Amino acid sequence: MSGTLTEEKIIRLGKMLEDSRRVTVVTHTRPDGDAIGSSSAMTGWLEGRGKDVRLIIPNAMPGFLTFVTDECCPGRVMRFDIEPDAVLRWIESSDTVICLDAKGFGRMEGMKEALESHKAAKVLIDHHLDPHEEMFDIVFSETEISSASELLFWLLLALKGTDDASELPMPVLRALLTGMTTDTNNFANSVFPSTFGMASKMLEAGVDRDGILSELYDRCRENRLRMMGYILKDKLRILPCGAAYMVLRADELAGYDIREGELEGVVNMPLTVEGVRLSMFLKEDDGYFRVSLRSKRGTSAFRLAERYFHGGGHEQASGGRLYFPGDVDDPSEAESFLERAAEEFFGTER
Ligand code: 5GP
Ligand code: MN
Repeated sequence: MSGTLTEEKIIRLGKMLEDSRRVTVVTHTRPDGDAIGSSSAMTGWLEGRGKDVRLIIPNAMPGFLTFVTDECCPGRVMRFDIEPDAVLRWIESSDTVICLDAKGFGRMEGMKEALESHKAAKVLIDHHLDPHEEMFDIVFSETEISSASELLFWLLLALKGTDDASELPMPVLRALLTGMTTDTNNFANSVFPSTFGMASKMLEAGVDRDGILSELYDRCRENRLRMMGYILKDKLRILPCGAAYMVLRADELAGYDIREGELEGVVNMPLTVEGVRLSMFLKEDDGYFRVSLRSKRGTSAFRLAERYFHGGGHEQASGGRLYFPGDVDDPSEAESFLERAAEEFFGTER
């Protein structure tokens, strides 16, 4: 179990939750599997304890994750981009706020101020570097763990005072296993001894892992595979310094009808090449590029994200944004920015 889960904090959290009636659970913008897995599990678990709870997500989640909210917290999800006023009223009326898979409220889009200034009791459950501890009453933060979902798994067992996962509701277990599986790329990265411990307890409790894997990985659309072929053939550049990059324009994404989350995992592919230690994947968005970064051990994707892309995340997996360095229609400007950044970064890191 993680060092952040002290008995004192677990007792305080238990008391805080006992006293709470209306709970806001929030997670980060463009939520991924860990964001949805951990926040749905928290929501479903609180509902099971009789709380009036809403899961607030800033905007759309990928379609392949809807099974998680459908199973774990149906009818309890609100989207800020769809009903901002109702969401802000809900937040204002809640007595407790729980933030999952984000280091603070910075990645909650237009809800940031409302969440920061709200007088509710606040809890952070996260695994990113650099948590905003000062914003919260209780902080569970640990970077040496696979995912927020894994941290919540150990936390819920501790709250219940058991080490038997079958004492937690099955939809909660399934949501947590989904989050851990996606954040580790199905046990390919960010795996710790405790991660296998969690997997082992899940299987003992009878969680249908094969079914979850099938939801996550066997139901993609053909376009995704075609787009990946195009990217690897025509868009991937590998530099002599050991950096690789891929820059996609909005019209290319639209041409393949790519939806939110459908290119998950593409950024990892260049790292399979010997000598490549850094992979940068840029997708054009509304007025900027969304940046995904992955690195091999010994190279810090996190520092690169902080230094050049207004971002952060984890040592080996980070992200951020690049505002168009020049002409919006000319991605070669972004490409030369990436080449200069990589050269400079490796120069200072050596
Ligand atoms: P991904 O490449 O999968 O979008 O993101 C990888 C990691 O980087 C995630 O853990 C995420 O938390 C972090 N990340 C992605 N985008 C941003 C961003 O704009 N700001 C910060 N601080 N972190 C980000
Ligand atoms: Mn995560």
